[in-house]
Amino acid sequence: MTALETCPDAEQLRQWRRDFHRHPEIAFEEHRTSARIAELLREAGIEVHTGLAGTGVIGTIEGARGPGRTIGLRADIDALAIEEATELEWASRTPGRMHACGHDGHTTMLLGAAWALARNPDFAGRVHVIFQPAEENEGGARVMIEEGLFDLFPMDAVYGLHNWPGMAVGEAAVHSGPSMAAFDVFTLRLSGRGCHAAMPHMGDDVILAGCELVTQLQGLISRERPAHQPAVLSVTQFHGGDAFNVMPGTVELRGTLRCFDPKLREHLEKRFREAVQASADFHGLEVELDYQSRYPATINDAEQARRCAEVLEHMPEVRKVHYDLPPCMASEDFAFMLEQCPGAYIWMGNGDSAALHNPGYDFNDDLSPIGVAWWQALVRRLLN
Ligand SMILES: [Zn+2]
Ligand SMILES: [Zn+2]
Repeated sequence: MTALETCPDAEQLRQWRRDFHRHPEIAFEEHRTSARIAELLREAGIEVHTGLAGTGVIGTIEGARGPGRTIGLRADIDALAIEEATELEWASRTPGRMHACGHDGHTTMLLGAAWALARNPDFAGRVHVIFQPAEENEGGARVMIEEGLFDLFPMDAVYGLHNWPGMAVGEAAVHSGPSMAAFDVFTLRLSGRGCHAAMPHMGDDVILAGCELVTQLQGLISRERPAHQPAVLSVTQFHGGDAFNVMPGTVELRGTLRCFDPKLREHLEKRFREAVQASADFHGLEVELDYQSRYPATINDAEQARRCAEVLEHMPEVRKVHYDLPPCMASEDFAFMLEQCPGAYIWMGNGDSAALHNPGYDFNDDLSPIGVAWWQALVRRLLN
């Protein structure tokens, strides 16, 4: 029997998902995962393109009802550098690697939908299923775009999803604007003249300067951010010194800044740079600052979000759609795709699981058939 004669049922989806879970691979190293995805797509007779961003895979499914619009459905495929703490039978077999964000489930749901759409291509137009590497930290979406994703595979719209712990299975959330924050990181090094701790006037106190800076930077959030616009700045590392009686010559601070509004982001970065320089000048220190904008905010197109909501509202598998959840301050590199192409990114309930990126997390297999139904419903409704 060929894949086209069968449709992946919940048991089949569970097997696929648990196999991906056992074999997690991190950013741009998803070789086994990528090969398995391509194999399963080909098994269903789907045209496959490999090699975009190294381990990216794209499958193209033509509708049987002739030409029409083209849409992209995207799943992320990478795992995290985390030691899994579940004792599940399908726990990671690779030390220090874990599918702790549910991308094993995202991959499975899109594969299931691809099979179902290939089996019954009762739509007009074309669907690209996009399996994207390196969502965590490395911006695989940006690399796919730089390597020609939207030139090689032109699309009218693109959609993504993420499982959401704490939301019941069978529930979903749609934001009509921002859903995930922009993500910047910084490393700054303050350098001065180290000296004897008993005679600080003979040198510079980089520790005091660093401590003052940590508190001053919070002023950007409390005093320069309009109160109705979310932003968060966290200093997450502070390194310096190695003796009781020595004032060190350098301290290094690292951290992250996240917000939604591009203008606010620009303003906060400018003021961040000014604050760091002013603090260094006041203390008579040299400063090196490496400030990097990593991911933009994930901002849904209002019209596309409305269409997603309409599809979800009509699905028997979906009991409730939330429209009032606050956006999340975590980040998502699907944002790069939404900068290039209109689309939307939804959340689907993962039930009462451990949090994302927690070593005790596991994707909820009960969500898989719902995700498969969602992708199909979206295609059949938008491309009819
Ligand atoms: Zn993640
Ligand atoms: Zn994720």
